Amino acid sequence: MFTRDIGIDLGTANTLVCIKGKGIVMREPSVVAYEARNDIVRAVGTEAKEMIGRTPGSIIAVRPLKDGVIADFDVTAAMLKKFIKQALHGSIFTRVRIMICVPAGVTEVESRAVKDAAIQAGASPNNILLIPEPKAAAVGAGLPVDDSTGCMVVDIGGGTSEVAVLSLGDIVTAQSVRVAGDKLDEAIINHIRKMHNMLIGERTAEEIKISIGSAKPYEGEGIMEIKGRNLVDGLPKSVIISAAEIREAMADTIKQIIDAVRLTLEKTPPELSADIIDRGITLTGGGALLRGLDELMSEETGIPVYVAENPLDCVIIGTSKELERTDFTEDYFRRLKKYR
Ligand code: ADP
Ligand code: MG
Repeated sequence: MFTRDIGIDLGTANTLVCIKGKGIVMREPSVVAYEARNDIVRAVGTEAKEMIGRTPGSIIAVRPLKDGVIADFDVTAAMLKKFIKQALHGSIFTRVRIMICVPAGVTEVESRAVKDAAIQAGASPNNILLIPEPKAAAVGAGLPVDDSTGCMVVDIGGGTSEVAVLSLGDIVTAQSVRVAGDKLDEAIINHIRKMHNMLIGERTAEEIKISIGSAKPYEGEGIMEIKGRNLVDGLPKSVIISAAEIREAMADTIKQIIDAVRLTLEKTPPELSADIIDRGITLTGGGALLRGLDELMSEETGIPVYVAENPLDCVIIGTSKELERTDFTEDYFRRLKKYR
């Protein structure tokens, strides 16, 4: 019987898939476009993301995972099914075993939903392993998680920021806040609306954040011309915005993320705190790429902060490594039991 073992990082912004023995095979935005009339899926991933905010009334483009958890179960399951099919290139395997990441703070109901989505996508219930995201992120960032020395990882995604301290291969303390990349985009939308009387979409907000956004002033920071709808007369208009005003607009949200890090540090056993002071904090997830975030976090916590290599890939790299280590036997299940 043919078996394929696949790992999935089902993120609120991006879904990545790896196959045992092959490595990462797919990176796509977690977006689905479907027909309003009959729920038929028209597109997933990049193609669907391009439709956000541009669809006619007959097509709906959504991100089925909001704030880190499954907001729309059926759409998530349909998306997962498409992605798995795509990752396997339509090859027919009689059995698929899936290792899938869940945020550390998920409730029983939420993790059940992830599992059920994987079942709907074709895996049998006994062939699904859930692994905590911060652990996968830490492994993927190359941290020595199996050591008795503590390490801290902060994964900043689209919907959630996960802060965790790990030691001896397990999570010691973790904190998950629903403040991450999306909230930064929202802060930019609100700022442009208030200060420039203009309405912009979430994709434009994300572009602004990535092109000129920062947590700290940086060299060569400039301005950007953006287009949207004038709230006064409803007509299209363009305005010039500065990196400084965008930084100001995002400041509160960034503070909330750093506060979560502080809170986790306060809850960390002293021996492990000492380790973290020596080793520093490692940032993963797309949010880690925000200019100056590492520097600001370091100033605010007094601890060195490093951005992992390829932060967007850390979770799937870690999942891939864990996948290589397991053969889906009872033993591995038992170790991960509390996350099932
Ligand atoms: P998730 O795990 O929730 O799917 P990701 O780790 O894929 O999230 O990160 C996606 C988030 O990272 C999005 O909010 C995106 O806007 C943000 N992001 C990606 N690149 C950058 C960048 N260069 N600067 C700031 N934010 C970024
Ligand atoms: Mg993620």
